[in-house]
Amino acid sequence: MSFKMYLLIATIVLVGAVVIWLTDAVRVFFRYRGKMLLTCPETGHAAAVNVAAAEAARTALTGRPHLCLSECSRWPERQGCGQECLSQLGADPHNCLVWTKVIDWYRGRSCAYCHKPFGELNWHDHRPALLGPDRKTVQWSEIAAETLPDVFATHLPVCWSCHVAETFRRKHPEMVVDRPGNRGPMGELLTERRPNKVGVSPMSRT
Ligand SMILES: [Zn+2]
Repeated sequence: MSFKMYLLIATIVLVGAVVIWLTDAVRVFFRYRGKMLLTCPETGHAAAVNVAAAEAARTALTGRPHLCLSECSRWPERQGCGQECLSQLGADPHNCLVWTKVIDWYRGRSCAYCHKPFGELNWHDHRPALLGPDRKTVQWSEIAAETLPDVFATHLPVCWSCHVAETFRRKHPEMVVDRPGNRGPMGELLTERRPNKVGVSPMSRT
């Protein structure tokens, strides 16, 4: 084999190694990217955090990725905490993402108004909403992420179309004619033939 051939093989091996090295770092970046919900060990309540994904990726180039927070809903007051919550990330940080928890909550539920079941949510779709005890609908993305676990326990799911219609109805009641007798205590539609079996919190029926 000629020297040129050896050089070519060495170059291919080297480039391959560099690509694998960089791919690992990119994988680490995407693994820890995005807003996550963790339980604050200090309060026992949810905290919305961001892991410093770029820092994790950078340190992954030379060894184990170094994990630290870049944002927390309890900052700046508790910025000096020990960040023990990071141990909750575990083997699959994807499970801690706010987006994953939102998808999980809507999955299998139906809109409180039109009773249409929610399919798998997509990031680029219109964001669905939630109906609160104050009979107002609000899109999930407008709710402080750290309060979502509590909000999920007290609110009903509402599709984006019904959210838009109900917001209009609430802001311009004079322009809407309602058929009486088919709404529950939170303003949701009640239909006997297609009851909203899932996603109804006890408060909506009491
Ligand atoms: Zn709906």
